[in-house]
Amino acid sequence: MWGLRHWLQSAATALSNAYLLFPFTRNIYQGKLKSICVPGLNCYSCPAATGACPLGSLQTIFASIRPALKSGTVHAGFYILGMLGITGSLVGRMPCAWVCPFGFLQEMLHKIPSREIEIPRWMTYIKYVFLVFFVILLPLMVIDEFGYGITWFCKYVCPAGTLEAGIPMLILQPQLRELAGWLYVNKIIVLVLFLAIVVFIRRPFCRIVCPLGAIYSLFNKVSIFRMVHHPDKCVLCKECYMGCPMGVKFYEGANQPDCIRCLKCMQESCKYGAISYEVAGLPLIKKRAEEKLSL
Ligand code: SF4
Ligand code: SF4
Repeated sequence: MWGLRHWLQSAATALSNAYLLFPFTRNIYQGKLKSICVPGLNCYSCPAATGACPLGSLQTIFASIRPALKSGTVHAGFYILGMLGITGSLVGRMPCAWVCPFGFLQEMLHKIPSREIEIPRWMTYIKYVFLVFFVILLPLMVIDEFGYGITWFCKYVCPAGTLEAGIPMLILQPQLRELAGWLYVNKIIVLVLFLAIVVFIRRPFCRIVCPLGAIYSLFNKVSIFRMVHHPDKCVLCKECYMGCPMGVKFYEGANQPDCIRCLKCMQESCKYGAISYEVAGLPLIKKRAEEKLSL
C-alpha cells in the first residue's frame, strides 16, 4: 500500500535531489543549501543533491580534525554532531524509514517478487564495525603529510555514492573516465552485488552496513518518541516480524536497534493492539490500540 510514509519518502528523495540544472552545468550543485545536512543518506557528490550527507560530513570532521584544531575551526564539526544528536534524541532511527532516499530505494527493490532470505542476527552488528573503523578511526588515524585523512567509507564502501555520484559524474564529465581505475571497478562490483541481494534480503544495507543507521540506532531506547509493546495483548502470531521491512521481531521487545519506527507493524500487521507508541512517556495512541483489541 502506498501510504503517507511512501509519499514522504518520495518527497524527501525529490527535495534532497532537486538541483535539476546539472545536465546543463555538468557539475554538482555548490550553492548555500549544500552546507546543510539532510537527515538521511544522500551522496554530497550526486549532481542533483541539494544538501550534504551527514555520513560524509562526519568523516570529513575526523579526517580534517588536526588542521582544524591548528586553525581553530574545529567548532564547524559540532554542527553535524549536534544535528545527529538532536534528531536521534527526538525520534531515534525514524529518519531511516521516513526520509532516507537510499532506504526508500531498497524498499522499492525488495518489492520485486522473490524468495525471502533472512540474515543471522550477528550480521546486524557489522554496521557498528563500519562506523568505528571506516567513519571514525581510519579517517582520524591515516593521514597525509599535511595532517589530512580521507573519507574511507565514501571512497571504498558506499554503494549510494557509486549510484548517485560515481556513475552520473562519469557520464557528465567524460574526462573523469580516464582517472577511474580499479577502485571504480571495485565500487561498481559492490553496487551490483548490493542491488542483487536487496531483492532477496530486507534492507540489507541498513541492517548490515549503514553507519548512519548505526548512530541513530543508539538513540532508539532513549529517544522522546518510542514504540511500546504490550505483552499482555501479544499472542505471538509473529505477523509483525513477517511484515517488518527490517526483519525486527517486535514481540521480543520494543525499540530494538534495527527498528526504524516505520509503524507498519502497528498500523498493518498487529491485529491485537499489542503495539503502540508514546511521546515523552505519553501513550498518545493507547486508545486506538485498545479499540483494535476490542474489534
Ligand atoms: S503482530 Fe502483535 S500479537 Fe502478533 S507477535 Fe507481533 S506484537 Fe504480538
Ligand atoms: S518493528 Fe515495526 S516500526 Fe519497527 S521497523 Fe519493524 S515494522 Fe517498522
